[in-house]
Amino acid sequence: MDASAAAGHSSLPTRILLGMLLGATAGVVLNGLYAPPLGEPASAAWTNVLWFADTVANPIGQLFLRLLFMVVVPVVFCSLFLGVAGLGSVQRLGSLGGRTLAWFLTTTAGAVGLALLLVGIIQPGKQISAEGLARVQAQYLGDAQARIAQGAQSKSMMDMLVEIVPKNVVAAAADNGQVLGLICFALLLGAASTRLPQERTKTLRDVLETIYELCVKVLGWAMQLAPFGVAGLIFTASSKLGFDVMKLVAWYLATAMGGLLLWQFVVITVLAKVFAGLSPRRFYSGCRTLLVTAFSTSSSNATLPTTIRTAVEEFGVPREIAGFVMPLGATMNMNGTALFEGVSVLFLAQVAGVELGLQQQLIVLAMAVVTAIGAAGVPGGSLPLLAIVLVQVGVPAEMMALILGVDRLVDMTRTVPNVTSDLVCSLWLARRDGVKLRD
Ligand code: ASP
Repeated sequence: MDASAAAGHSSLPTRILLGMLLGATAGVVLNGLYAPPLGEPASAAWTNVLWFADTVANPIGQLFLRLLFMVVVPVVFCSLFLGVAGLGSVQRLGSLGGRTLAWFLTTTAGAVGLALLLVGIIQPGKQISAEGLARVQAQYLGDAQARIAQGAQSKSMMDMLVEIVPKNVVAAAADNGQVLGLICFALLLGAASTRLPQERTKTLRDVLETIYELCVKVLGWAMQLAPFGVAGLIFTASSKLGFDVMKLVAWYLATAMGGLLLWQFVVITVLAKVFAGLSPRRFYSGCRTLLVTAFSTSSSNATLPTTIRTAVEEFGVPREIAGFVMPLGATMNMNGTALFEGVSVLFLAQVAGVELGLQQQLIVLAMAVVTAIGAAGVPGGSLPLLAIVLVQVGVPAEMMALILGVDRLVDMTRTVPNVTSDLVCSLWLARRDGVKLRD
């Protein structure tokens, strides 16, 4: 069987992985063979490699990136509006709704906290020689360096709070650096909609729901392009920057995966013990299928039926509780996604040379929580939203190219705590209700 036929039969994650390996290997090898030593003239072969990177590989990668960026504004607006508008009914559910939200917010914020801590300790974006870093920056930042310097002029906390409220929401949506204004508008409008009778807002909610679903479809198409996009981006990076850049990506991958595994196998396990009274052995024997499904589909939405079934059939959670917590959790509660966003933003800021003080790290925390709530529970659902957190702290969104090559693996891993956190939340609520969980 030839290679393309084999690829045709393989699953998307395998093809993305293949794209990544091919792009990275070709890039590193060509760089090693033909890149001229500093200051020496380029050979004809090296000129050809650069030509291929700039005119073929990079544009394919950029196409993939731009498809992700394209859906940012509608996804942010629709998901946050609908999320808050839906809370009208959560309020009516009383303490169950309140506890669920409290669980979602605290665990998500905790996950970002762990991310900030890990990146602060490991410093994955600085594990490269000064000369290597300068080359990576020159490749990715270009004219953005001036913008970064400008962003570094620190604003007071008060100024930043005031600027969250946009003077003009259309201008805020059109300006990459102002997405916080759009988020503020969507949240306020959503809150306002809970003050109107449900029938008055039904049509609008239906329309926004449809727009949101359409964007998720487009995102799905973009992900089909991912094997090529990823190959293009990683080839461009590795051919121009050589092995150095791969080392940097490996540090990122180790930090992100380490954080996610820590969150899943230490924090979630402890939460299951403390809040649901389940031993690690019992907890994991009950959710084996759930772990495999989340990991292999990379989608909280696709895993939803399994999450509900696991809670109800494996642990004895009442159907009403599972039916309430899980659908809400699949769209709103994403511990793994928030952790990934935290690691990615701080890592890319380190690479870009953007110093994030405490104040700005708190902004990353808040934005990672909000955008994890806004992310769609589909493969790559959080990528468009990661872009806006980056821009907010002064890191050019194009720098995502550096981590996209390995994102599928991180996506599969982050989806696991995304769903197990929902599961533990439902176990806790059931136990509080006096239900004896199956052990
Ligand atoms: N794939 C994740 C999920 O479905 C979302 C993301 O972080 O991209 O839960």
